[in-house]
Amino acid sequence: MMHKGQQKEYYQAFAERNSQYDGIFFAGIKTTGIFCRPTCSARKPKPENCEFFTTIQDAMLAGYRACKRCHPLSVTGTPPDLIQSLINAVENEPEKRWKDTDISRLGLHPSTARRQFKKRYGMTFVAYARARRMGLALKSIRAGEKIIHAQIDAAYESGSGFRDAFTKILGDAPARAKNKNILKAEWLDTPLGAMIAIADEDGLYLLEFTDRRGLEREIEKMRRSLNAAIIPGTSPILKALKQELRAYFSGTLKTFRTPLKLNGSNFQQSVLSALISIPYGQTRSYKQQAIALKQPDAIRAIARANGMNQLAIIIPCHRVLGHDGKLVGYSGGLARKKWLIEHEQKHSR
Ligand SMILES: [Zn+2]
Repeated sequence: MMHKGQQKEYYQAFAERNSQYDGIFFAGIKTTGIFCRPTCSARKPKPENCEFFTTIQDAMLAGYRACKRCHPLSVTGTPPDLIQSLINAVENEPEKRWKDTDISRLGLHPSTARRQFKKRYGMTFVAYARARRMGLALKSIRAGEKIIHAQIDAAYESGSGFRDAFTKILGDAPARAKNKNILKAEWLDTPLGAMIAIADEDGLYLLEFTDRRGLEREIEKMRRSLNAAIIPGTSPILKALKQELRAYFSGTLKTFRTPLKLNGSNFQQSVLSALISIPYGQTRSYKQQAIALKQPDAIRAIARANGMNQLAIIIPCHRVLGHDGKLVGYSGGLARKKWLIEHEQKHSR
């Protein structure tokens, strides 16, 4: 989470329309649900109604959409027609999962669209559409218990893109979720970025960074296999987790006690258990993990099972390195992996 001083500095820059901050941060306006670049000409809201993001993706995953006045998605101001038509198409159907054939149907060449989008925004069109879709679903989780179920049900009834985005990822609205297991989902701001946690009354099923690739399908798959609906909210387990994470990030907690629910086959679960046994502050290679599991030839399968870990940080897959001690493959990104390893080494002394 951004500290107060930073927040103040950004607000100041935003209020002054300071162009030196262009590209440094994006401002989300809570009252309107849009995000702007610092120089936006629109009237500036009160500080308590602003929050700041360092990337477009983070602003979108928090549920914001781009301002039509300052075009925060475009480096030079007004985006070219090609890009604008793609953005409009997403706004018309935010719940849609876009494929190349859909882009062709808009009269655009898929590879041109892909290249142009990537060049301007550093993310592909598909990633943009995904962030928007996820953002809509995650928005309710972010609002947490401030959103009462009746509101979700109302949004569900309205036939909006919100409904479809929400339902696809999180399942039925609460009023329709009878005869289903209910999981609670909570948004957690951490020093390494926003995370989402999903739990029932007995244990934690998922803890992931919101920008993790594949998160959407991961949540969906889990929800289906548990015949569950996911609703925004908190629970004793999520409250305990929050406290533990805070202590972990401050360097005082070395062993998590939050009860976990492990998914997957027996093999996958044994790989995850082996990860939990790597002590805080230490690292292992995949090969060492394979030997510990008495399956020295299964290095690849073990690496794959590591990659399917849905409980970031708590099941410390970040403590596994490549054969020459290299930082490899972390779903949350290598920068986070490096941070976690260094953080633990610093605090284990
Ligand atoms: Zn704006």
